[in-house]
Amino acid sequence: MKYKAVVFDLFGTLIDNLCPQEYERVLWEMADALCVPREDFAREWIGTFQERISGGIETTEDAVEHICQLLGVEAAASSIAAAVEIRFDLTRRALRPRPDAVETLTQLKAGGYKIGLVTDCSDEVPVLWADSPLAPVIDVPIFSCSVGMAKPDSRIYLLACEALGVKPQECLYVGDGSSRELTGAVKVGMHPVLISVPYDNDYDHFRVDAKEWQGTVISSLKQILTVVG
Ligand SMILES: [Mg+2]
Repeated sequence: MKYKAVVFDLFGTLIDNLCPQEYERVLWEMADALCVPREDFAREWIGTFQERISGGIETTEDAVEHICQLLGVEAAASSIAAAVEIRFDLTRRALRPRPDAVETLTQLKAGGYKIGLVTDCSDEVPVLWADSPLAPVIDVPIFSCSVGMAKPDSRIYLLACEALGVKPQECLYVGDGSSRELTGAVKVGMHPVLISVPYDNDYDHFRVDAKEWQGTVISSLKQILTVVG
């Protein structure tokens, strides 16, 4: 076998990216639950992205409380809980695998490949992970907020390889190019593949790698079965 493991990104790869309209609507619902101005809340929520995905702000509740403080609002515990629940509902909906995801990962596992996940995400994803249909088919999930580092930091890829018991050179890395993840994977010696599905939108301005990528491209998850050979 040419490779021993396949490491996947989550958003825009195994699951769809969040639709920007829904993302905004959810932020407004959270703001309404807290009785704070929608635009102010949305701005501060987006502004805490890096802290939320790197574990600097540990929980969704901490993030909501932090933003209320920034906005000079003392929200009731019940309002904070309601806002947190709205956010969790969004993540629950988002964690639906793409149609060919579970089948493709199952086939890879049956073929002897180890399966990893490296995702830049906030606290909701690891909290809800056990209920995802993806959980049973992924050997090693690495969540940025849990390990305190994010892509393209070399350490997060190396952590996945170590936990999978493989060398980076023995790994394919599959992602839609957010967070310069493909560049980061190349740097540690992994073999990156860009996934670019026809129906995906192009809202993600962080997806620099997707625009510059010269390497292997797949347009559906199941095509990875031909890449592994
Ligand atoms: Mg992604």
